[in-house]
Amino acid sequence: MDDTSLPLQPPDHRTPAWMLRARCREARAGEFFPSDGVGVDRARRVCAECPVKSECLEYALKYRIDHGVWGGCSERERRRILRQRRVTASR
Ligand code: SF4
Repeated sequence: MDDTSLPLQPPDHRTPAWMLRARCREARAGEFFPSDGVGVDRARRVCAECPVKSECLEYALKYRIDHGVWGGCSERERRRILRQRRVTASR
């Protein structure tokens, strides 16, 4: 296992500035941690109009956040992105 596959710990417990502009700040707890595809689609619709979608996705990828919808991507989609980046980096 190389260093790029190890999860990073967030640098501290402060809320990143971009989170203050998140469209989901007013969402119900659990809305972004759906248990089925319908819930994922519902969360994605909110993410689609979020001004910090890119920052959110990169944060989830950087810290290997396993659960929930972040930056409009499900857990499976984030795993796929990370896999693709590893393949690209190894070329
Ligand atoms: S992209 Fe989605 S999960 Fe991320 S901050 Fe915006 S609304 Fe919340």
